Amino acid sequence: MRPAIPLLLSVLLAPSVLAVASAPALAAPPDRPPNVVLIVADDLGYGDLGCYGAKGFRTPNLDRLAADGMRFDAFYVSEPVCSASRTSILTGCYAVRLGIHGALGPKAEHGIHPDEVTIAEVLKPLGYSTAAFGKWHLGHHLEFLPLRHGFDEYFGLPYSNDMWPQHPTAGKDFPPLPLIEGEKVIAHMPDQTKLTGSYAERAVRVIERNVERPFFLYVPHSMPHVPLHASEAYRGKSSSGLYGDVIQEIDASVGRILEALARNGLRERTLVLFTSDNGPWLSYGEHAGSAGPLREGKGTVWEGGVRVPCIARWPGKVPAGSTCREPAMTIDLLPTIAALAGAELPRRAIDGKDIGPILRGEPGAKSPHEALFFYFQQGELQGLRSGRWKLILPHKYRTLGGKPGGKGGQPAVYEQRDAGVELYDLEADPSETRDVAAASPEVVRRLEALAERARDDLGDALTKRKGKGVRPAGKRAGR
Ligand code: MG
Repeated sequence: MRPAIPLLLSVLLAPSVLAVASAPALAAPPDRPPNVVLIVADDLGYGDLGCYGAKGFRTPNLDRLAADGMRFDAFYVSEPVCSASRTSILTGCYAVRLGIHGALGPKAEHGIHPDEVTIAEVLKPLGYSTAAFGKWHLGHHLEFLPLRHGFDEYFGLPYSNDMWPQHPTAGKDFPPLPLIEGEKVIAHMPDQTKLTGSYAERAVRVIERNVERPFFLYVPHSMPHVPLHASEAYRGKSSSGLYGDVIQEIDASVGRILEALARNGLRERTLVLFTSDNGPWLSYGEHAGSAGPLREGKGTVWEGGVRVPCIARWPGKVPAGSTCREPAMTIDLLPTIAALAGAELPRRAIDGKDIGPILRGEPGAKSPHEALFFYFQQGELQGLRSGRWKLILPHKYRTLGGKPGGKGGQPAVYEQRDAGVELYDLEADPSETRDVAAASPEVVRRLEALAERARDDLGDALTKRKGKGVRPAGKRAGR
């Protein structure tokens, strides 16, 4: 008789039986999956929002978003640079896994591979309407653009707003900057003072058109990446110059999106996420943001380069006024959103994990990662975080070395320095000022073993390792 019980159980649990068993529930409309609004600022530092301690400008809409939801205290990007970081945001993978490094320029012939799966493609089978308004940067040729990767609509810049002939030091390297609608270049050298407002305006229209249907709205801003541009209505309005004006305009554009959600009765149906793609570009001086108490900025794996603001709001689901101190990363967005929506994960390996228990404020919810890895340059594993510890691996990094940044949109020149094997206790010393490697050799050994596992899977240019799990980037057709 003993086998009968498992057999009975397996029959009861078979999908067809479950469908019959749950038939009465089908009479009521199934709970619609949530709308997802994902807003990403460009080069916005950890210290650049009021709710993260910013001074000199105001971010009332983002501060209210945090008060109504969760503020992450230890949220990371996978790499401190645009294309790599944005690839991770949309695919749930370390960018090195997908063969994307650095910031793709107008001469790049590669981009996101057609077989890779974005958040938009994960949600599409559930009937989501999808739109992206802003800076794409996963490849600017047709096959890499948003419409080929799960988005119904796109408007924005295909790469960074400084990749144009007016670049302060490298203008001759760049053709006129294109502005794209759908898959067509609709203008060259667009008026950048209109970008932030145009993204918000289109976002509001998507919300108004999709009151009855779930939507995924991705708003990856072009600002506050240099060159800074604020529209007439915001110029001169902050007490800290153009950078503050630009942040206040982004904050207001978030406000327009939140207001459109509320006006259309979608506040409770929508998960709103706000983050940045990397830390502040410090060499631009007063045109750069602030990493607050954190060390260094964009283009380094010190905390100022990779730890960014992150806010999540979903009334009734994410506890209001909460702070999350557990480490999490942009790679977690795709699997978390998939789980909340009831969508299937991509069949290929991804690196992110579902942080739903953290988002819901479940007691004792912990980071699901044993370690988070920081890659930079052409696939260099430069550091990792495990629990409270951060291990820096020997590499060259850039710093202003205490010198002031540039002025008026002109960058100062960085100097190069060497980092060794260094260990920091981020709970006691978030500013990474005291290397405790010599005092904690067993922690160093444990983290080095974790680094070794990452090298095996994802490779490491510093130790000349090829990763078994690295997949190719997409190549432009016919190249
Ligand atoms: Mg950036």
